[in-house]
Amino acid sequence: MSEIPSSQVNTPTPADADRRRAVAPVICYPNETLPQPNLATYQAARETAQKMDEVLVKPREASCFTVPAGQFFRITSVEGPQVGDLNLWNMNDLSERFFSGKTRALHGTHVTTGEQLWSSLPHLRPMATIISDTLGWYGIDQYGGSVHDVIGTRCDPYTGNLLSGEHYHHCCHSNLTRALADHLGMSLSEAEPHIHDVLNVFMCTGFTRNTGQYFMKASPVRPGDYLEFFAEIDLLGALSACPGGDCGAEHTSDTARCHPLLVEVFAPETEALSGWQSPKQNGYNRSHGRG
Ligand SMILES: [Zn+2]
Repeated sequence: MSEIPSSQVNTPTPADADRRRAVAPVICYPNETLPQPNLATYQAARETAQKMDEVLVKPREASCFTVPAGQFFRITSVEGPQVGDLNLWNMNDLSERFFSGKTRALHGTHVTTGEQLWSSLPHLRPMATIISDTLGWYGIDQYGGSVHDVIGTRCDPYTGNLLSGEHYHHCCHSNLTRALADHLGMSLSEAEPHIHDVLNVFMCTGFTRNTGQYFMKASPVRPGDYLEFFAEIDLLGALSACPGGDCGAEHTSDTARCHPLLVEVFAPETEALSGWQSPKQNGYNRSHGRG
């Protein structure tokens, strides 16, 4: 987008250009009718929860973890600022996985407390609800940047090769591929197609106003900061400690200083969730206009 496409070079600016540009935007998906998660119930249940498991994700590596529906998981920065790339699947059906694009369309470019991570079509239901975010104070900064993005994809060696010709093996895409393969006893080629666009946990990103380019900047995360979720369905997760570290300079290399990330799973007392039900599959009848 840094150069003007040739089609535009030859198109004279119309007389009413300013009027056309001045048209006010409308929100694509007004979300007032989205079923609202009962945060008060989740947070009360969380008070009763006991820790069940933990996984320490090594720098420039990824690890898998499982969270039964009705339990909680927390991702914590430990030792130093670090960004994490998160994949989520239905533990019982890998074809249902996190849908970054629709989550973005429904909630915006970055997510925080009270917002949900949605699953792929044809399932399209909440997989997880964010119940706590110690970086919720960050908001949107002067560059248009914010934290926990659903606008990036995941760093991957194919884009790296395209741009630099190199073969770097510890991008989040490869880390997630190895972790899923090891967890499920699959080959790398079987595991790779299951890797999908991520929630960039703790990553601070936006789009430049003048060129529309995706930017990152050093994450404001500090050790002790965390993002915590309620599992709406049985979840298999994979988290990569991105080779970009705090993503303040570069990724797709071993240059940045990297740190581990901690994942913890907590189970509440069963009666603490009375009234809660795991969300049903999406209600669309799937006839697609035939039959
Ligand atoms: Zn990455």
